[in-house]
Amino acid sequence: MPKCKLCIEQGRPEHSASEPRCAFESGEFSSDNWNCATAGAIRELMGEHAWIDERHDEAFYVRRDDRSYGALFVPPNPEQPEHEGSWRGGGFIAGYWYKHRGQTEMLIRVDPRNGGQEPDAAKPLTLEEAEAALECCRLARKD
Ligand SMILES: [Zn+2]
Repeated sequence: MPKCKLCIEQGRPEHSASEPRCAFESGEFSSDNWNCATAGAIRELMGEHAWIDERHDEAFYVRRDDRSYGALFVPPNPEQPEHEGSWRGGGFIAGYWYKHRGQTEMLIRVDPRNGGQEPDAAKPLTLEEAEAALECCRLARKD
């Protein structure tokens, strides 16, 4: 079973009572997950664990006050040509999870390039998109 690079690196965290289950075992997000490291990294970029005065990334994310819903703007990768890469032109991820628990219940990509009429205008995030999004955000923060 393929799984995300961060889950492979993470192994089983010492504090974790149960075995992590990667959200991307099939290559596409599944809600059947527990403490997936990539899903967790995206939740953090959506503001989970951020205090109200940590505003440095506010242009990139929104979240509800209870921190259960989040949305993340993914900037284009500055190291790729304008029309290449899975986040060319930038994009948007929306997600939902219950409180701060281990299961991430939804991560979808909202892609305006597909248009509102297309069935895949919003679709489960793929592993490739998730890992590319983390890289895009990491690179954007260096600027
Ligand atoms: Zn994972």
